[in-house]
Amino acid sequence: MAQRGEFQIIERFFTHETFGAWKSQGVGDDCAIIDTGAGRLAVTTDMMALGTHFLPDADPEDVGYKALAVNLSDLAAAGAVARAFFLSIGLPRRDDGWLADFSRGLMRLAETSGCALLGGDTTRTPEVNGRHAPVTISITAMGDLPAGMGLTRAGAKPGDDIWVSGTVGDAYAALKCRWGHWDLMPDAQAACFARMDRPTPRNALGEALLPLAHACADISDGLLADLGHILERSGVSAEIDWESIPISLALKSLTIAKQHEAALAGGDDYELVFTAAPDMAERIWAAGLATGTPVTRIGRITEQSARNLTVRDAQGLPVVFERAGFDHFA
Ligand code: ADP
Ligand code: MG
Repeated sequence: MAQRGEFQIIERFFTHETFGAWKSQGVGDDCAIIDTGAGRLAVTTDMMALGTHFLPDADPEDVGYKALAVNLSDLAAAGAVARAFFLSIGLPRRDDGWLADFSRGLMRLAETSGCALLGGDTTRTPEVNGRHAPVTISITAMGDLPAGMGLTRAGAKPGDDIWVSGTVGDAYAALKCRWGHWDLMPDAQAACFARMDRPTPRNALGEALLPLAHACADISDGLLADLGHILERSGVSAEIDWESIPISLALKSLTIAKQHEAALAGGDDYELVFTAAPDMAERIWAAGLATGTPVTRIGRITEQSARNLTVRDAQGLPVVFERAGFDHFA
């Protein structure tokens, strides 16, 4: 797959040989998995800005919740147990009402996930043409892993089943509705809005998959884009069956073209996409049941090295789709 803007920047300017005593697999996965000598740390960081990652008028409680949720989701993709995070925030002005709501959303999720705020930094955003840049949030989250363990995007093997948790496409449908491009019935719309504003990071499932899966990523850029990252890193190809991709009733009320766009290319779902040997299927169903997370088999990893991704419809014909996932610099 072609390297597009954001990933080309990362590859060209920020991908280096790692050095020093702390060994890691380096740039390119949801988390860096670091061997400290004593054990393993999974570390991830995500930067978000109001107006880019959130609508400018987003509910601050949702902003706080989601800023942490997307980082927890990266820890889930590594199979790590979330332990701590650091918060750096740039504010255009002091607004105690906004901050109270933001911190409530943030800290409620921190408490329920057992992930403690241990530090950070607070600054004023820069002033450009007499106006301060919007609220900017950067969270770095850490989890722990048993010695020698940790899921990455590498490791998918020909013959593996491809699985996805929950349903995909709802967050994208919500965004399209908020922009006024798509229309949903009120109930369906409310369900999609909840998926967009309050995504559920799949940490319990991720931890359970640690000894079961070969490769794992969370879906932030879109199912095809994030599965594409697994193919790139693993050097394999994949075929998925459109009919088996889990989509919500809300999404099923839309035209098939919109369903394709949302479920295949729409981002922001924070589900897990992972691969595992076929003989792990029973244990993966059991992990889904034990953690209260629906899991669905959607396809298989095919031959080594080609890195092709084919989606087939019920007749076995390739599904043609337009967008290929989110890229900040595409
Ligand atoms: P995610 O969506 O899981 O947060 P991204 O798509 O943002 O991951 O990033 C892809 C990979 O590139 C990750 O391993 C991330 O750590 C790395 N990365 C992104 N930006 C930089 C940067 N400026 N310097 C070093 N590594 C980066
Ligand atoms: Mg990720």
